[in-house]
Amino acid sequence: MSLISVNEALNLLLAKFSSVKTEDMLLEKAAGRVLSRNIKSNVDLPLFTNSSMDGFAVRAEDLHEAKPDNPIELRIVEDIPAGKYPVREVGKKQASRIMTGAPLPNGADTVVPVEDTDQYELESLHGAALPERIKVFRSLERGDYLRQKGEDVKSNEIVLDANHQLRPQDVGLLAMLGIAQVPVFCHPRIAILSTGDELVPLNVPLELGKIHDSNAYSLSGLITRDGGEAIYLGIIPDREQAVREALNQAVNINADLILSSAGVSVGAFDYVKKVVQSEGSLDLWRVNMRPGKPIAFGNYRGTQFIGLPGNPVSAFVGYEVFVRPVIRKLAGYGEFPRRSEKVKIVENISSDGRESYLRALVEEKDGVKEARLTGHQGSGNLLSLVQANALLIIPSGVKSLPSGEIVDAWMINSTW
Ligand code: AMP
Ligand code: MG
Repeated sequence: MSLISVNEALNLLLAKFSSVKTEDMLLEKAAGRVLSRNIKSNVDLPLFTNSSMDGFAVRAEDLHEAKPDNPIELRIVEDIPAGKYPVREVGKKQASRIMTGAPLPNGADTVVPVEDTDQYELESLHGAALPERIKVFRSLERGDYLRQKGEDVKSNEIVLDANHQLRPQDVGLLAMLGIAQVPVFCHPRIAILSTGDELVPLNVPLELGKIHDSNAYSLSGLITRDGGEAIYLGIIPDREQAVREALNQAVNINADLILSSAGVSVGAFDYVKKVVQSEGSLDLWRVNMRPGKPIAFGNYRGTQFIGLPGNPVSAFVGYEVFVRPVIRKLAGYGEFPRRSEKVKIVENISSDGRESYLRALVEEKDGVKEARLTGHQGSGNLLSLVQANALLIIPSGVKSLPSGEIVDAWMINSTW
């Protein structure tokens, strides 16, 4: 069987998936969710022209001559606290007391802040009786201290695009627009299967030769991070019937994807391949990468299936390279290429010529992102992955790189 490139494998894989179902979500639960449609505003924001200061609504033309030594006197006709709609028109040489956020009354075209009137010193603004007259000490431009209707958002404007993940400020805006429910993509449901007779749950003491199932924990965390719902189906022993039961369970719970680790290589006890093929199809791809060369793809009774290698670092890297883009697509983010950083390696690096994903710590020094490999790069050694914050990507065909070279890196803590 020939090797295929990482890109080829990823494109083949992505072509098999589309975004999952959508649902309407109450706005208070919508932060973090991904919009399934564009959101259009039905209103202008601000909804009405209002004051940006506590002060007085005036006609700018009345105040042309106003100066500190030549104050202009205006007669107060109304008090407009925030939340009240004004009923009196402001006529010539008149003003209405107005609070921040209150609607501008008819006739007025400007607000003069209380600081520029004789009322500031008199402290007659907050809670005080409405004065009959005020003195204004400065002139203003028409429109000063106003927030115009529609200056932020125009009615019919698209304010948020489909496939956008809602942030706290986005749901704030939606609330301003009066939108109480938003259409979002459902979380894709990912069934996790760990296969192998050597695996033991954490609450069971280890006998000789056994190890704990760690992949289920890493994979659950990765799935949750990427907007999926991880459903752990437990440890599946290397027995045909046990594998079949677990796969049937995944189908019964309507998983959008079955994600297994281990059990698809050439080991004598690898039943996963056989069982999946008995009621679906399974292709084993040998991808030109390291770690994580074998990856299985297929379906079981119509449910998509991806099989990752069993070694914990291989499973992690296989997830990052292949499964993460798939889950993001399922979750509605679309197919945006992953962001990578340019980093400078500060040691010699060798590779076997496959596209390699090497664990590294990237630290910024004098504006340069310097990368050093962490620990032992064996594909079972998880601590070196824990100590890393990046995967360096050494392209296929490259067998050695001298210190000082610039390479692409994926920051593994990044959101995409
Ligand atoms: P396999 O792909 O079944 O040949 O497994 C490769 C290696 O990964 C073996 O050393 C397994 O013990 C190990 N392994 C498989 N599954 C897990 C798991 N869920 N957690 C930790 N190690 C695993
Ligand atoms: Mg195994």
